[in-house]
Amino acid sequence: MTHFNELGLGAPLLQALAAEQYVTPTPIQTRSIPPILAGRDLCGIAQTGTGKTAAFALPLLQRLSASGSRAQPGSCRALVLSPTRELASQIAESFKTYGRHLKLSSTVVFGGVSGRPQAQALARGVDILVATPGRLTDHLNAGAVRLDRVEIFVLDEADRMLDMGFIHAIRRILPRLPKSRQNLFFSATMPHEIARLADELLRDPVKVTVTPGATTAEKVEQRVIFVPASSKRALLADILSREEMARTLVFTRTKHGADRVVRHLDSVGIRAAAIHGNKSQNQRERALDGFKSGRNRVLIATDIAARGIDIDAITHVVNFDLPNIPETYVHRIGRTARAGAAGIAISFCDAEEKTYLRDIEKLIRKALPASGSLEAGAVTNGPFHAALGQDRARVPHAASRGQLRAAAARYDAAGPPPSARHGARRQGQGASAAGAVPDRDAIGHRRGKDGAGNRWRSRPR
Ligand code: AMP
Repeated sequence: MTHFNELGLGAPLLQALAAEQYVTPTPIQTRSIPPILAGRDLCGIAQTGTGKTAAFALPLLQRLSASGSRAQPGSCRALVLSPTRELASQIAESFKTYGRHLKLSSTVVFGGVSGRPQAQALARGVDILVATPGRLTDHLNAGAVRLDRVEIFVLDEADRMLDMGFIHAIRRILPRLPKSRQNLFFSATMPHEIARLADELLRDPVKVTVTPGATTAEKVEQRVIFVPASSKRALLADILSREEMARTLVFTRTKHGADRVVRHLDSVGIRAAAIHGNKSQNQRERALDGFKSGRNRVLIATDIAARGIDIDAITHVVNFDLPNIPETYVHRIGRTARAGAAGIAISFCDAEEKTYLRDIEKLIRKALPASGSLEAGAVTNGPFHAALGQDRARVPHAASRGQLRAAAARYDAAGPPPSARHGARRQGQGASAAGAVPDRDAIGHRRGKDGAGNRWRSRPR
């Protein structure tokens, strides 16, 4: 097994890694750090969660600190481009953490906040600049920074840059860089246009591919619940009322969908926050902090907003909507199985998403265990929902989780609803003989049908 001290990193970095309790380098770190230290260009095919940030940040810090040159006013020595503000802040944070025993300066610039303090930091000159392409372009146009002294250029999440429409901004930034420099290029996938960009950018690069996709998917316990689109919010509220879902990341396809889910959860007393492109930087930071600190145990996100967010200990990922790109499913569920942890992914699938499910199963090469029903009312007419509904009428808006659990417990104590008991008695048989064997659905609820054919569901005993 390789250790960090075998990769050529100096004592100040090893000390910082020890403080972070990093013991073993990840595969991309083992394979990238030595060639980057040697000054090679690198093309890394890897997604977040593989440890790629440290894979480029550690050798970059060491090279900058060894070269002895100093940042000139209005310029930087290393430029890291990242597609989202969250990812840019996390990368900048990583540079600070790993470089805490080195005398190198770093700053981060992104949109959505005032550009003035950023321009002031750039005016002083900075060793490492982490930036999103849009805001960097603004600063370049304003003459706040020059890029002609960049020694190392990092393009992170190149495929996501393409998805987000940043490719043109990047092409306009590239000519501002000096010809002689080291280039580090990272992308989770290699669509044609990204491969072309890599070809243009890199000189005789070392290629490192790590494929966490399949292994990540294997570690995550995955289930599908068939549910009509109109019942998804009620189903989500129901499963979130379970204690075990300590830190849940919920993916929705649209920004409005994310807001609707937050409002619905709020109405049943579950605190949640959403992050997506329509939120201000402050709102996003508050939502992320609340989730990290445990104040909100539910975070609703769109794919782009969630990209690159580094939050440990996510216990559950819920796909409120199934993604139409199967690789996105693998990315999403990978958020719950970081650094060796296991996790649970629950995907809601409505009638229109069945083809997406087929594509996903083809990609991960297995059929996912499924439960639920696409019939209207199949999920939300359950007695637990009824109990919840009544309680909600009495207990206000801010019903606590404890109150919700108590409502569920009261229901459990009372057993199935009168109609279910009646139905079974009327036929002189148990529920099973009534054609409604109580079984357990994907989230452990018992369920069945009453005599009138209405479905019911309970909390697990
Ligand atoms: P990244 O792929 O860069 O987003 O990193 C994913 C997560 O893994 C981050 O929380 C890092 O702090 C963490 N990490 C990176 N490298 C290591 C390592 N060698 N040992 C333990 N954790 C690591």
